[in-house]
Amino acid sequence: MTDSFEDNDAFASAGLRLTVDLGALVENWRDMARRSGRARTGAAVKADAYGLGIEDVGEALYLAGTRDFFVATADEGVTLRLYAPDARIFVLCGIWPGTERLFFENDLVPVIASEEQLTFWMSVLADYGDHPCALQVDTGFNRLGLPVEDAIALANDVSRPASFAPVLVMSHLACGDDPANAMNKQQLEAFRTVSAAFEGIEASLANSAGIFLGSEYHFDLTRPGIALYGGQPVNGTANPMRPVATAEARIIQIRSVRAGETVSYGGAQQLTRDSRLAIVSAGYADGYMRSLSSGGVPLRQTGLPGGQGFIAGHKVPVAGRITMDLAIFDVTDIPNHLVRAGDYIELFGTNIPVDDAALAAGTISYEMLTGMGLRYERRYISDEAEE
Ligand SMILES: *Cc1c(COP(=O)(O)O)cnc(C)c1O
Repeated sequence: MTDSFEDNDAFASAGLRLTVDLGALVENWRDMARRSGRARTGAAVKADAYGLGIEDVGEALYLAGTRDFFVATADEGVTLRLYAPDARIFVLCGIWPGTERLFFENDLVPVIASEEQLTFWMSVLADYGDHPCALQVDTGFNRLGLPVEDAIALANDVSRPASFAPVLVMSHLACGDDPANAMNKQQLEAFRTVSAAFEGIEASLANSAGIFLGSEYHFDLTRPGIALYGGQPVNGTANPMRPVATAEARIIQIRSVRAGETVSYGGAQQLTRDSRLAIVSAGYADGYMRSLSSGGVPLRQTGLPGGQGFIAGHKVPVAGRITMDLAIFDVTDIPNHLVRAGDYIELFGTNIPVDDAALAAGTISYEMLTGMGLRYERRYISDEAEE
């Protein structure tokens, strides 16, 4: 490598790039904090902060005042610890034999969710000494958590060791994004009995959607995730969050194609007019899902119209099937001089809401964000830097 290569700007030359607006992220967290009322507001940063990068996202949230973080695994907690020195880091999947050191050395709080984990945790306390934990209680989700009756029995068990010191009792809503769903109230009532049994210990029930259900769902600590990253927290309402992530792919080639010809694998889309197609460097290996294809994908029965990109002030449709490394957009309706090889097409972001892209793919923003794959070049900006 010669010195002259050093100036290469990885972001400016990337085939695929992701811009994360940390200013918008922090605004969204403050919005969640306002809506959480008297409760403290934490942040779910599992799965690399929903694909946006736990280092930068964690640090920005920490600097904004977040002191309670939720990760899925101990490894994620170890990474986050470098950026959130004195925050509480809860590990949602709990503790497993062989990982004790990670919890003690990095001051991670395991979220104990089953009888087996509880038994193991008691033995860890006996071996290593005092350490905080949290308790997950299942109030109807039927995923992780102690049954309500077992949790209450544990709360009332006078023989439990003094070293067993839960700092948080929590549960998770199954239908929080559907405010009319009767399950919300049922889970709330069940969780109230649990939190009452653990008097004096902080309680947490609400994810992003749960925050919108009202103050009785807030308890002591809220745990927003998707709303921080700009996803729509509640179904069937306008999304009040600011977009945070913008994904763009470079146009590698523009080609002119005659009416009657077909596009991409399977020849599944036949062009009805002479067209110009932009071939861009994003495929399903990058989480630009095959279900966003136009013209039909075998086994895709939903009849969704396919994905859209955004370039030069216009939305443009996907043409034909999305392939592993490449997608094709129909740019026929955009004046020639506005779309050139080397330009970038937005896949989702400030112009194509991530929820719209996810809907077209038959999925949700969560999956769209966490599925972006390894090839994105990331850039972090704050609001001021953007314009
Ligand atoms: C992921 C997760 C959250 C955050 O949920 P969002 O819907 O993204 O706000 C909160 N609590 C638990 C237990 C989670 O697993």
